[in-house]
Amino acid sequence: MPSDVKTSEDTSVSFHGWASTGTANLKQWSYHPRPIGPKDVEIEITHCGICGSDIHTITSGWGELKNGPCIPGHEIVGKVVAKGKDSHHQIGDLVGAGAMVDACGDCDDCKAGFDQMCEKKAFTYNDSFKDGRGGLSYGGYADRVRVNGEYVFKIPAQISAAEAAPLLCAGVTTYAPLKHHGAGPGKRVGVIGIGGLGHLAIQWAHAMKCDEVVAISTSDSKREEAKKLGASKFVNSKKPEEMAAAAKSMDIVVCTSFDKNQNWAEILQLVANRGQFVLLALPEAPLSIPGNAFIARHVSMVGSLIGGKDVVQEMLEFAAAHNVRPWIEKMPMSDANAAVKHMMDGRPRYRVVMETEAAARQ
Ligand SMILES: [Zn+2]
Ligand SMILES: [Zn+2]
Repeated sequence: MPSDVKTSEDTSVSFHGWASTGTANLKQWSYHPRPIGPKDVEIEITHCGICGSDIHTITSGWGELKNGPCIPGHEIVGKVVAKGKDSHHQIGDLVGAGAMVDACGDCDDCKAGFDQMCEKKAFTYNDSFKDGRGGLSYGGYADRVRVNGEYVFKIPAQISAAEAAPLLCAGVTTYAPLKHHGAGPGKRVGVIGIGGLGHLAIQWAHAMKCDEVVAISTSDSKREEAKKLGASKFVNSKKPEEMAAAAKSMDIVVCTSFDKNQNWAEILQLVANRGQFVLLALPEAPLSIPGNAFIARHVSMVGSLIGGKDVVQEMLEFAAAHNVRPWIEKMPMSDANAAVKHMMDGRPRYRVVMETEAAARQ
């Protein structure tokens, strides 16, 4: 563990979860959480989604683990079982926590609603708190978690606990950039990759009443499902004639695929002149991109990371109102390794949510 990481532990309690030590083979492990602070909330976890980021982290694809054993999981849903004196949450509330669990609330980024860029933010796992109270952050493949209640969101009554889980990362990751770049009437949106992120992006763009929602995939097997999700068009990116017909036809393209062999020149052709190409999935290797689309056609390429806390709450309410739901497969939390393997094999349609035995009985 780096020596500048201050730890802080409540040795009277232990939380139990599934931890990685740098490979995808998770082991049962426990830790003492940090003492509950005035704004904190303790969640008894019932569900946790498996995000692509969990896999990149536990396999060390994004680099070595920072603080020793890492309990992944940042699509956390459960009940509030304890809270600090300044928390507005109520004991027993069904709540969720996503990919970040703390930020300063006071810097320019936080004030602008981009708290995910705050230098004092804490990601939900493989990170440390920087609020002066010390402590490391651990995720939701576990029985409990203690986090800043400002980053805990009430789940609208219309959304089930299991379906709420993927919204907390995959949901906001796709909702926030579409909203930010003006998806809505008059705009044509393309979604590259129909998986955990893409199947939500299609639903958001459809619910936002975009003129056209184009699903772009390497596999014709997704054609029918894309239509069910709300896509008005489908492009098979392996078919040159379909790619040529779709050239310059989308104002906003969100890319949820991190295919190592992505042909960037070809993909950028889809973006209309002056349109935006938004990178949502972080490839493990640097990108190699030809510059002509940027110069000649004023296409801009931007990235987007999750969403600030206000956007998360807005997204949950939008999902409730417009019936946007992830397509999920539930698997038992007691066999986290099987669930992770299912995800790594690329099999889920479209998101795996782990569930505790107690929640499964209800
Ligand atoms: Zn995630
Ligand atoms: Zn800040």
